[in-house]
This record gives sequence, C-alpha cells and structure tokens, in this order.
Amino acid sequence: MSRFDGPFAFRPALRAGARFSREAKDRPILTFESVFKSYRSGSPVLRGVHLTIERGEFVFVTGPSGAGKSTLLRLLYRSETVDDGRILFLGKDVARLKDDAIPFLRRNIGVVFQDFKLVPAWSVYENVAVALEVLSLPTRLVRTRVGEALERVGLSGRGDDLAGVLSGGEQQRVAIARAIVGEPALILADEPTGNLDPQLAIDILGLFEEIHEGGTTVVFATHDRTLLEVRPRRVVVLDEGKALDVPQGIAIDSDDHYRLPN
Ligand code: ADP
Repeated sequence: MSRFDGPFAFRPALRAGARFSREAKDRPILTFESVFKSYRSGSPVLRGVHLTIERGEFVFVTGPSGAGKSTLLRLLYRSETVDDGRILFLGKDVARLKDDAIPFLRRNIGVVFQDFKLVPAWSVYENVAVALEVLSLPTRLVRTRVGEALERVGLSGRGDDLAGVLSGGEQQRVAIARAIVGEPALILADEPTGNLDPQLAIDILGLFEEIHEGGTTVVFATHDRTLLEVRPRRVVVLDEGKALDVPQGIAIDSDDHYRLPN
C-alpha cells in the first residue's frame, strides 16, 4: 500500500483533475443532506441544511453574523461533527469518517480564515511549505510547489520574509498560498476579507476567482454584501438554520432579506 492509499485514495495531484477518483468524478463534489447542528440543546444553528455544490463551482455562502456560516465550513473539514445528517465530499460521508481518516480529508480541502492563522515568527516559505509536510515530498519538489503557489498569489521573491512583518493583505495571500499549495479539490474561505479594507477585499476576492478559473471549487463565506455584488455568482443564504439559493437578480437588503430588483 502506498502512503497515498487509504480511506481517501486521492493522490496529491500536481495537475488539476488528476486528483479525483473515477467514481467521484461524476458526482457533485459536495452534498449536505439534512444536516443538523447545535452547540446548546434547544438552540440549533443548522436545522436541516440541504445543499449541493458541483465540481468547479464558485459559491458565496452568506447570512448575518451568527447564522452558522463558520459552523457549516467547520463541519465540512471536520473541526466539528454533525448531530444528524450526511455531508458527502467526493462521495464520502465526512460526518462518519474515523479520526485516522481526517488527514486524508484535509489534504483535499484548503481552508483560509479571517485571521490568516500564520505563524508570525516563521518565514513566508515555511508557512506555506507546512501544508505539504504530511505528503513527505522530496525537498526539491516542495521548493518548486511553494514557489509556484507564492507566484500565483503575487508574492514571488518574498519567501524569506517573516510572515509577521507583512501587511494584512500580504498575510492573507500567504494563507491562500498555503491553502492551494497541495492542489486541493476544494477551497473553503471563512470571511477571508473580514480583516481587510474594501479595496484589499476586492483584490483578495479576485485571487480566489483566479484560483477558481484554474479549476478549483471555491466556497466563500462572507457577510459582506458588497462582495456579492462585484460579479454575479451563485449565492446561498443561511437563514433560520437552512440553506437557500438566492435567485439570480434578487438582492439581499441590510437585514439579510431578499429584495426584488426595481
Ligand atoms: P457565523 O459564521 O455565520 O457568524 P457561527 O457558525 O460562527 O456563525 O455561529 C453560529 C452560532 O453558533 C452562533 O450563535 C455562535 O455563538 C454559536 N457557536 C459557534 N461556535 C460555537 C461553539 N464552539 N460553542 C458554542 N456556540 C458556538
């Protein structure tokens, strides 16, 4: 058995597309089926979420603070567990993976957070390369892939800088490089622009769009309505514990309710 076999028998691909098992290729990349989650009894956060995301989609997940956006993402990369329901990622039920299968899951999902989650005392290079550690790749290949990832986020030549001295926008670019360096099938972004000013937020959104154009599925959670209006995209609202697609052309008002176009 090679070290790439296991409950998720996907190779850490060097080329987009080569990472999917044959049977998973024909299924949606992600399906939430009747997912329930509460942290306290009597106040469920998710109350029967049904959501299907196809391979290659770019989806905004929105809703007011506290609606459950982070919870939805955390259930997917198994930092939380569901109370009930199924979450199928590439055909596997994430909710029922054994603990020793979780690293296989996380190889296939890159996550970007609002607060970057870098190690400030490490170099930019080290912060990105750490995501490849689990793959035990030869050093030369790690160097090549980190270099490519930094180039994609516009940070070529910055590998030796300490992460802690970079600006917020640059730190988020490092975090994005770390999320994409393993060429995951799916990128999850949890309020990735929440700590950035409006122009930087649009730049960072543009970076996710470029990654998406390269073939990666992107789920982008934000409560920033201005970002939703930058380009028409699929928008899913979390509302009273359920996920609803916002029909194209219908805006969301300041109370996070739908508003018909004038
Ligand atoms: P959002 O990302 O949309 O702001 P969250 O998923 O962070 O929403 O939170 C949804 C609700 O669940 C909030 O009421 C929040 O306080 C609660 N919550 C989130 N994480 C926890 C936790 N670990 N323990 C208890 N309550 C939590």
